[in-house]
Amino acid sequence: MFSLIYSSEAIEPFNFKRLSDLCNKSAGCNQQLDITGYLYYRDGKFIQYLEGEELKVSGLMSRILKDSRHNVTQVIQEEGRTQRRFPNWSMHYLHKGLVHFEDVIGCHLELLKYSKTSSNTDQIWRVLDRLAESRNHNTLN
Ligand code: FAD
Repeated sequence: MFSLIYSSEAIEPFNFKRLSDLCNKSAGCNQQLDITGYLYYRDGKFIQYLEGEELKVSGLMSRILKDSRHNVTQVIQEEGRTQRRFPNWSMHYLHKGLVHFEDVIGCHLELLKYSKTSSNTDQIWRVLDRLAESRNHNTLN
């Protein structure tokens, strides 16, 4: 299993319609590629988490990097997990205002902004684990 998380900045703000179009289209493509994860958007910034087979996730990431609707600012990768964190989310749109979520996102952004030391990246994966745990306990839908 291969996972990555990135942050990016929208070239122009996304309204709800553009976001839902993007998520619906992405969910269809990701389902075909057996890629799961989520997309978060707030104040012109995206955070996306993707997991699946390495070649498929890297192939998708190359397309996302070329997308002129945003500029990717940070990417962090993780190899060697045996299980998915979000097995049922083909591309889930996470809304702001969900339980503790702003804390989670704040951690992501801060950590991604600084150097990619192993302790910073480990912390990011731990935040993701907490998010997955909340989801598995149905506190996130
Ligand atoms: P094409 O569909 O041929 O598009 C080529 C270029 O046209 C794109 O790079 C983009 O710059 C532009 N474009 C495409 N669609 C639109 C549109 N509706 N409005 C304006 N410009 C457009 N795709 C996934 O399959 N899975 C994902 O999880 C995923 N996540 C994304 C997250 C973000 C934040 C963004 C911005 C895009 C995401 N995409 C995702 C879309 C992805 O970047 C590609 O557009 C998509 O995979 C199609 O790739 P393609 O090479 O066939 O591009």
